[in-house]
Amino acid sequence: MKKRVLSLLLVLSILIGGSLTGCSNTPANTPSDKNTCEAHADTNFDDLCDFCNVSVLVYVDFYAINDLHGKVADGEGHPGVDELTTYLKNAKLRDDYLFVLSSGDMWQGSSESNLTGGLLTTEWMNYLNFVSMTIGNHEYDWGEGPIEENDEMANFPFLAINIYDRETNELVDYCQPSVVVEAGDVKIGIIGAIGDCYSSIAIERVQDVYFKVGDELTELVKAEATRLREEEGVDCIIYSLHDGYGRSKGDDISYIGSNELSGYYDTKLSDGYVDIVFEAHTHQQYILMDQFGVYHLQNRGDNSGGISHVEIAVNSANGGVAVKVAELISTTQYQDLYDDAIVSELLEKYKDDLSYAYEELGYNAAFRNSNYLCQLVADLYLEEGIEKWGSEYNIVLGGGSISTRKPYNLNAGAVTYSDLQPLFPFDNELVLCSISGADLERRFLNNSEYVVSLSSYGQSVRNNIDPNATYYIILDTWSSNYAPNRATEIARYGDSVYARDLLAWYIQNGGLAK
Ligand SMILES: [Zn+2]
Ligand SMILES: [Zn+2]
Repeated sequence: MKKRVLSLLLVLSILIGGSLTGCSNTPANTPSDKNTCEAHADTNFDDLCDFCNVSVLVYVDFYAINDLHGKVADGEGHPGVDELTTYLKNAKLRDDYLFVLSSGDMWQGSSESNLTGGLLTTEWMNYLNFVSMTIGNHEYDWGEGPIEENDEMANFPFLAINIYDRETNELVDYCQPSVVVEAGDVKIGIIGAIGDCYSSIAIERVQDVYFKVGDELTELVKAEATRLREEEGVDCIIYSLHDGYGRSKGDDISYIGSNELSGYYDTKLSDGYVDIVFEAHTHQQYILMDQFGVYHLQNRGDNSGGISHVEIAVNSANGGVAVKVAELISTTQYQDLYDDAIVSELLEKYKDDLSYAYEELGYNAAFRNSNYLCQLVADLYLEEGIEKWGSEYNIVLGGGSISTRKPYNLNAGAVTYSDLQPLFPFDNELVLCSISGADLERRFLNNSEYVVSLSSYGQSVRNNIDPNATYYIILDTWSSNYAPNRATEIARYGDSVYARDLLAWYIQNGGLAK
């Protein structure tokens, strides 16, 4: 469609060009010959060159993916990226200038991605020539080492203008603030930033870095946008932000005030600094338009919603930018396409790392919902904790802040490790902690947000807690490191055993067979 419009404009400009131009250098600039016009100009904003009358618009397409969470292979509630790959390759055939980018949280959340430390996902991104990836909070789930390894693998830069090294107070060396891409005569800058999500990362994984957020982030983005425009001649700026709006709004455009955005985005940036914002992190689905007419897009997560698409027309003569298309591409638009071979090739390449994930652990006799699974994990924390430390400590409970991730539930049938990985993807270790009676009551016994499993000793003291006495509980490092819990770590289980491993052993021993 677009190309047809463009060629129609060309025909029109050829037909009517002679009568409209008549500028002093007309002889050298015949209407149909673009090459004779040394530099196009468009002072009357008709998107045609004042001299040679050809269209000066350059159409550029951006496809953005957020929060893939390693959902590379087909699975429960998502089609996998083999069909998406076909979709994007087809789009590349249609569009002159097409760029694919990510706004973060790409690696954490599936066996295929996790057991390869994210490398399988990064290789897929290389295959599709991603131009950039903003670092998300979950990129830190395994610490900085794997980010550096993925950075070596990636043919594209990791972006974050606001992740700083505590020691040097410089930007971390695996990130750059922006990247510039070229489309014909126009240049587009992509600036990346992580949102105010430091506290959502296990503290021991991010102790060497800090994030600049709030007004500091606004100033960084303003300065970078200005530099890109003034020094690098960039015509348009994309802001790829690992943060987002808190609610889904569907795929129609929703107009939104700066107050509503202020929790994560400073609308001042829309006043001449950034042109389009691709968002992430909240796993919501929306196309927002703020008071300055800047679009904000996000399309869920886990490849369950789809991707975001924006087509812009940049006037290469005067730098004007117009958004022609802003839409959410639903998974239904690609899930039935043929499978590009890249995913099976990557699974083959990494099969030694992945073989464990596909072995059948055992049988699950019934559908298990999230509540059931979280309670089971709390029970297993307690059981495993008592086995390891019970002879030395009177353990009250096991549990803490436990939740499942997408697909949240476990279907009946044969279970593999790769079924459990997305439910409990995080590498939080089991820990023995001490806690005061007062905090035990406040944070664990009387907190409906937490899931706990009481031991028989715990049941016997449940109604008789001494606020000043010390008690012992089993948590994972996510809960033990969360400062408001005020739990003191005494010992770690170690051996890289996490919630999903306890669940896997339980299933191997026939725990869910009935
Ligand atoms: Zn996410
Ligand atoms: Zn996130």
